[in-house]
Amino acid sequence: AEFLAPRLRRVRPSPTAAISDQVRALAQQGVDIINLGEGELDFDTPGHIKQAGIEAIVRGDTKYTAVSGSAELKTAIITKFERENGIRYQANEVIAGTGAKQLIFNALLATVRLGDEVLVPAPYWVSYPDMVALAEGEARFIPCAESNGWKLQATDLAAAITPATRWLMLNSPNNPTGAVYSPEDLYALGQVLLEHPQVLILADDIYEQICHPPSQFASLASIEPRLKQRILTVNGVSKGYSMTGWRLGYAGGPSWLINAMQILQSQSTSNPSSISQAAAIAALEQPADFMNGWLETLQRRRKTVMSCIEAIDGLSADLPPGAFYVFANCSGLLGKKTPAGETLTRDNEVAAYLLQAAHVATLQGSAFGASPYLRIAYAIDDARLKLACERISRACRELR
Ligand code: PLP
Repeated sequence: AEFLAPRLRRVRPSPTAAISDQVRALAQQGVDIINLGEGELDFDTPGHIKQAGIEAIVRGDTKYTAVSGSAELKTAIITKFERENGIRYQANEVIAGTGAKQLIFNALLATVRLGDEVLVPAPYWVSYPDMVALAEGEARFIPCAESNGWKLQATDLAAAITPATRWLMLNSPNNPTGAVYSPEDLYALGQVLLEHPQVLILADDIYEQICHPPSQFASLASIEPRLKQRILTVNGVSKGYSMTGWRLGYAGGPSWLINAMQILQSQSTSNPSSISQAAAIAALEQPADFMNGWLETLQRRRKTVMSCIEAIDGLSADLPPGAFYVFANCSGLLGKKTPAGETLTRDNEVAAYLLQAAHVATLQGSAFGASPYLRIAYAIDDARLKLACERISRACRELR
């Protein structure tokens, strides 16, 4: 520990690590754990996308590319942004990186000065606050209410902005709540942001494709083009194309910012994998015929989880319009006693109880900045999901 740099102290140990350790330990003992904690689709990467990666290897596209991505990939990204989002970027306004995560990290590291404030609507993706801390900034949380569909309200945003505000992190569809901001929602936020030129906006669109009708995806830069020069639109192939392991994300934004991110990337990881870049081109360019089938499957699974929750005394949730999570209120389970005689007082104890008693892994809402809740990821096999629901119901019935 004496060798550790002070900056590491700014990073919390992952708030979900305790559960992950228990999951691993139980699995090692041969216990059949059903994991509803994982933030990824269970679908295989579509064949034509995998094939594009294989062809890149065979062709010998296995060398360094431009740090910010090959010209072909950038063209595919620019075309995608224009065709699907109505946002026009030039080649020096886009960058590809090793996952959306790296791009977000680099954007913050490149711009956040000591003490700068970064507004993080809560609940939030677990990595935002720690990335801000590593960049020596201060995360300022803006609580979003379940009764507002978990969406940041314009008045709350206006009240939270100070002269020290550098960024607003905006994530739609949202992890962990599944909230989807409508064009009207974004427009209202945009009007507030127009009044504060010191604020940059990070639009984390990584779940773009996972919008369940009637909800529809919209991106801030297309809704309020007057803000475009202050928006970093972050996206990637991880969630929409079931490509988490390929590590390929991309972003569009003002050239000064893209350039700064590229400099950081050039001195750290360089270009994202050339093979993943080739696969990403196929993902972005070819028709996503598989997507409707995926969405139908996810909607069926979402229904499975919602029916389960409705039938449990102590859990509740509104239908989440996007992503593949249900963020369930578990306040009704608090105060109850487990068969072992322990009283559940916080959501992490509920998650731990479900793991021990039902062998189902979920994540406590407190890890995402809102409690008492459970994030239930439903992108797993239908039969396993049904079994998980039965096990959760039984474990909840055993509470007194
Ligand atoms: N943003 C959000 C909200 C996420 O949930 C995730 C992944 O969990 C990411 C970004 C990072 O995605 P990537 O796999 O492209 O790094």
